[in-house]
Amino acid sequence: MERISLGNTEFEGRNNAYLFTGDRTALVDTGLSTPAVREDLEAELASRGVDVTDLDLILLTHWHHDHAGLAAAFQRESDATVRVHADDAGLVSGDEGEVARLEDARDRLLEAWGTPKDQRDALVAFLDASEDKAGAPATVDSLSDGETVQVGDDTLRAVHAPGHTEGMTCYVREDGTILTGDALLPSYTPNVGGSDPRVEDPLGTYLGVLVDLVEAGYDRAYPGHRDPIDDPAARAREILDHHRDRARRVIEILGERGTTDAWTVSSALFGDLEGVHIIHGPGESYAHLEHLRREGLVEQTDEGYAATVGAPAAADDVVPTL
Ligand SMILES: [Zn+2]
Ligand SMILES: [Zn+2]
Repeated sequence: MERISLGNTEFEGRNNAYLFTGDRTALVDTGLSTPAVREDLEAELASRGVDVTDLDLILLTHWHHDHAGLAAAFQRESDATVRVHADDAGLVSGDEGEVARLEDARDRLLEAWGTPKDQRDALVAFLDASEDKAGAPATVDSLSDGETVQVGDDTLRAVHAPGHTEGMTCYVREDGTILTGDALLPSYTPNVGGSDPRVEDPLGTYLGVLVDLVEAGYDRAYPGHRDPIDDPAARAREILDHHRDRARRVIEILGERGTTDAWTVSSALFGDLEGVHIIHGPGESYAHLEHLRREGLVEQTDEGYAATVGAPAAADDVVPTL
């Protein structure tokens, strides 16, 4: 397997694509659909003796444009099979019902979070301007948790890891290493809550994935952005610690402000937001508030969210300590 580090700066930047050669030429993730990324990736493939037309399989970790953007263009040239988890398949294939479900969930949540009108307009303008980077719809053969897929001379096992997106999937190699997409990243914590508004209880769902990553003890992780992670279990623990600190901070903010909405909590945590962060910031706040609500530490009324009496003392317990 070869890691191809792309030079893009859009979204979280420096996306990775992973190339497998041998019996079945395969690419895991493709980068954004921009002329610069396409040129970059094609040159990297060519330097390894691979032409886009050689691809047999394009395997995706999730539907986000910086991972799936070029899938359709490469499929058109190579006739490669494009595979992604069933829960993200409709967004990669451009299924109208699934796209509508995503947009409806986004609109409903932005409203429920108390996002100001000018911020919502700025987000819509950003998303519209990014649309050409999404790439065309691909023909998708969906896959599910536990399935094995042959890539190059290796076999990958799909491990569903929802939270960042509904269909987010990691792929475990025969040597005990794992490709994690955006489920585990080296230098920042993957967004939950705003990155896929379809996900119910995004933080609680994602915490389960982190616990699984700690317990599985993979030898090394190859993330969707930036450099490999030598100790994936340690990194998953760090992210759990980060969310424990943040849960405590959210309870504190509710204590200071009284009953309030996700946008106000986001402003207290992150300040002013731009571009995609206009949905990531309140999304992350919502993910915490919703998890705290499910754990009984926060009450939600028509007025907004409020901490319960025992919340400050119990805040640490809502995120597992391993
Ligand atoms: Zn992503
Ligand atoms: Zn990403």
